[in-house]
Amino acid sequence: DSKRRGRNSWQAFTPELAEQQLHRLQLETHLRRAVHNDEFHLVYQPQVDLSDGRVVAIEALIRWRNRSLGEMRPDRFIDHAETTGDIVGIGGWVLHEACRQLRAWRDEGLQIERVAVNVSYRQFLGDDLANNVGAALAEYGLPGSALELEFTERVLIEDAPDTVRTFTRLRELGVSLSIDDFGEGYSALNYLRRLPIHGLKLSQLFVQGVPDNQSDVAVCQAVTGIARSLGLGMVAEGVETERQRVFLRELGVLIGQGFLFAPGLAPDDLRDYCRAQKRL
Ligand code: C2E
Ligand code: MG
Ligand code: MG
Ligand code: MG
Repeated sequence: DSKRRGRNSWQAFTPELAEQQLHRLQLETHLRRAVHNDEFHLVYQPQVDLSDGRVVAIEALIRWRNRSLGEMRPDRFIDHAETTGDIVGIGGWVLHEACRQLRAWRDEGLQIERVAVNVSYRQFLGDDLANNVGAALAEYGLPGSALELEFTERVLIEDAPDTVRTFTRLRELGVSLSIDDFGEGYSALNYLRRLPIHGLKLSQLFVQGVPDNQSDVAVCQAVTGIARSLGLGMVAEGVETERQRVFLRELGVLIGQGFLFAPGLAPDDLRDYCRAQKRL
């Protein structure tokens, strides 16, 4: 009897579940070897001055190209990598590659002030992050001011014992620290006062709706107000239209990134983009 029930329930939920698990297993198996097999690359999205379009920094965004799985955006694999722990190796690779590329650009005379790198929660545990950042900067002869780290509100909320020390060490290296997708997840207002943070990235979730959606307008105003009163810098994410640019600029947001200016670009295209900006 129990056997039959077991088999029935097995039949009831198997097809999707088995497929999902198989897929997950495949993904994780490939993910484990991806750094070693050199399957990742970075694209770079310009962060521009909202009043004149000048490139002030760039954000490195990871891409994964796997023979059997195809080309994947981070939303498909970063969470898995966080769960399995592979994110630590991947994150180390990203940091290294972004610094290497910035060094190469500087050596060919391209003036790019800063590259922003996304850092996941797991990378904040332990001492490795600050050590790795220090080592990468030293290896490529870059000052701390050449690097910005973007982390999510989860880092603030979980309040791991090492977080404050890690932030402090990063700050001592001269690295900028900002909170990505601000306002999306949790309310981290309390932590804003406690930690040495430089800036907030206004989530594209709210940028999308301005200037027409009144509640999105209200959130953008509130976040801008918080940033201003705490003396934090601000970058608006996901700027797609001229009307959004004008609205944000009038709100006092100085820097934005989004498809209105450029998507994430391959290194050569980013170089061309910066050169073209200069000639304007
Ligand atoms: P994010 O850091 O908030 O990056 C912004 C995402 O929005 C990027 O997606 C970018 O391509 C996209 N985007 C930029 N402008 C626009 C726009 O105008 N409209 C719209 N609709 N989207 C825009 P992407 O590259 O797929 O990255 C997704 C997320 O994956 C990132 O969000 C970040 O949280 C994470 N991620 C990316 N690279 C890394 C990495 O190297 N390490 C870690 N830990 N996470 C990463
Ligand atoms: Mg980011
Ligand atoms: Mg973001
Ligand atoms: Mg995001």
